[in-house]
Amino acid sequence: MRILVESCFSLTAKTIKKDLLRAREQRKNVDGFINIDFGQVKTVADYCIEYGAETDFLILRYGMEEQRFKIADSELYFGTRSWFICNCERRVAKLYLPPQTTKFKCRHCHKLTYELNTFNRKSSHGLAFYRTNRMIKMMNNREKMKSYLYNGKPTLRFNRWLKLSALAGYENNIDDAKKLFSAINNYN
Ligand SMILES: [Zn+2]
Repeated sequence: MRILVESCFSLTAKTIKKDLLRAREQRKNVDGFINIDFGQVKTVADYCIEYGAETDFLILRYGMEEQRFKIADSELYFGTRSWFICNCERRVAKLYLPPQTTKFKCRHCHKLTYELNTFNRKSSHGLAFYRTNRMIKMMNNREKMKSYLYNGKPTLRFNRWLKLSALAGYENNIDDAKKLFSAINNYN
């Protein structure tokens, strides 16, 4: 089965940037937690930094799972950048956690599929795949939407969501929205 990059939670070095900086300074007790958001399902992982003779490690604890990742640094013109070393020894900027799984891995190890632009949307398989992806994005957005309306008018975010709905072939959402707006306008 294909797992889309978009459906996964991703941990980037940026997310824990401050603590990676503290780790470079070899500070004591560097730890924290990461909010993992899958839309309806929200969980938390916690982490700490362990110092080794040659490399430092990020210890990630998620549920019953404990994982260790080497941390690598590279010197850049404008500062230092941190990377994670996946168990496959790849140096990566992101570690992914697919929904309903417990292991963080790089996108190669999880065999994740990237954006769908490479798919031929004219083939039925390609179209179905494209729509699935749009739908995942759409559902995530809908979860995050705090409000659809402001002063009786659709918010920008809601308009964007409707556009995504149309792209994904979900005309029902648009019909529902139209009914909603006409109901509101009649009420006013
Ligand atoms: Zn890997």
